[in-house]
Amino acid sequence: MSAAGGPPVVVAIDGPAGVGKSTVARDLAAALGLPYVDTGAMYRALGWKALRQGVEPQDSAAVARLVADSALRLERRTDGGVDVTLDGQPVEPHIRAPEVGVMASHLAALPVVRQRLVELQRAFGGAHGAVMEGRDIGTVVFPQTPFKFFLDAAPEVRVRRRLEQLRAGGREATVAEVEDELLRRDRRDRERAHSPLAWDPSYERVDTSGMTLDEVVERLAAAIAARGQGAAAGA
Ligand code: C5P
Repeated sequence: MSAAGGPPVVVAIDGPAGVGKSTVARDLAAALGLPYVDTGAMYRALGWKALRQGVEPQDSAAVARLVADSALRLERRTDGGVDVTLDGQPVEPHIRAPEVGVMASHLAALPVVRQRLVELQRAFGGAHGAVMEGRDIGTVVFPQTPFKFFLDAAPEVRVRRRLEQLRAGGREATVAEVEDELLRRDRRDRERAHSPLAWDPSYERVDTSGMTLDEVVERLAAAIAARGQGAAAGA
């Protein structure tokens, strides 16, 4: 999908943890024929490596070395999906544990980490277009895209969605554990100095609390179609 011979289309989906961004972004990307890019997986990949190597986020020299020594890539699969690979290996099987998410959010506060990842995201989206989800896609990575959505939901809804996602992946966790991990991580993401989780009036904010994720996909697809026609008509 590209805007009438223009640059590839990027749809930005931002929002807090557990809101259902991944499911929505994956389904929307399939509907639009665009690659789906999970930028959180890139922060998690570095978090996973940092945990294995015992790198502390407070040790800025060690974090800079970690970034410099890591070959992180976004690779298109033949089925149209996108793999995040680190040092030649797909990371997906290793990065979903809560402690990896916590380490990812500590590293994500550091400019040396963000600069590198934002560069990779811009190169991919600029070349292929994407439905890209994260925390700063519409504010920092692709601020010029006309398609920006901020998904939100009440904390208890996000905790329930994350529990369901963990269970579907064969993991068990208690409500208290998920609540603690998710809400603390969110606070850190909202309060950091660099590229905090935030939205502005250029976004369409969608409170998904009372919606199914299919309904959210439909709402976003309809908004994109309406805006696409508006752009074509010069609106
Ligand atoms: O999206 P996910 O929950 O997998 O992201 C893990 C962490 O990576 C987030 O808590 C956040 O700190 C960081 N992140 C970010 N910017 C993005 C995507 C993720 O800071 N664009």
